[in-house]
Amino acid sequence: MTLDAIKTVAVVGAGTMGNGIAHVFAKAGYSVILRDVDQKSLDRALDTIGKNLDREVKKAKITEADKSATLARIKMTADAKALAAADIAIEAVPEQRELKERVLQEVDAALRPGAILASNTSSISITALAAKTSRPENFIGMHFMNPVPVMTLVEVIRGLQTSDETFALTMALCEKLGKKPVAVNDSPGFVSNRVLMPMINEAAYTVMEGVATPESVDAVMKLGMNHPMGPLELADFIGLDVCVDILEVLHEGLGDPKYCACPLLKKYVAAGWLGRKSARGFYKY
Ligand code: NAD
Repeated sequence: MTLDAIKTVAVVGAGTMGNGIAHVFAKAGYSVILRDVDQKSLDRALDTIGKNLDREVKKAKITEADKSATLARIKMTADAKALAAADIAIEAVPEQRELKERVLQEVDAALRPGAILASNTSSISITALAAKTSRPENFIGMHFMNPVPVMTLVEVIRGLQTSDETFALTMALCEKLGKKPVAVNDSPGFVSNRVLMPMINEAAYTVMEGVATPESVDAVMKLGMNHPMGPLELADFIGLDVCVDILEVLHEGLGDPKYCACPLLKKYVAAGWLGRKSARGFYKY
């Protein structure tokens, strides 16, 4: 397949990441099939994409006509068979291995031979997910960052069996989308979470040990290290439950106790303090 032959993109899972991925592909001129099992998620996704495009219109980044054309390129569906028209499908369902395996097998069965199948997983092995499908050579990780329309990075993860052609096409596709792809090999947490999560975990330890308040930890990292957000603000944004899950993947996959989730993080999750989404984490919202 050539880059120009890619015209239709399927996005499976219309949540936080799926609606952002659909947004950027539709804006770049691709026909998008956005699939979810939950009609409410599809309705919310359309509403979110509309509001995010409105913001771009207000900032004069796009016109009202661009917004309408972008929305017109997105077809919402609850039907897995509708994915057959896609040249590439990107899976963005919740970070649960068994669910992802099941969904990827369903998408694999619907896609034509040769179509690319990508996962937006934050931490699950691309090699292992690929092996559950009939197309490991056409399987790859495309790890978009949240919020997708704003963040330029896509971590592109090669599985053990990913072909050179699939890898080159995926990198070129990201560029065409206006993103900056960075290639990494498959390993627990890839690069982004392998480096970020130990920092968040250490920041949680400094709070637990009374070294500093969350405000002070974040101020040190923002003012001293030029980070736009402190690690604890960022942890609240990502979700403390998601942070604990990713640390567990790192711990299990790399076997080093340095990746054990800080007891304070686990305690907050047990209390239902998940960060922004529950209005309470290291901070109150
Ligand atoms: P989310 O919970 O917001 O959305 C997931 C969507 O998948 C929901 O709308 C749900 O209805 C849908 N879904 C569930 N089962 C389905 C099925 N069988 N078929 C189709 N759709 C189904 O999750 P999210 O935050 O968008 O995360 C999605 C993926 O992206 C995860 O793998 C996550 O690790 C990864 N990720 C998330 C972030 C982030 O900051 N949220 C950043 C990078 C990567």
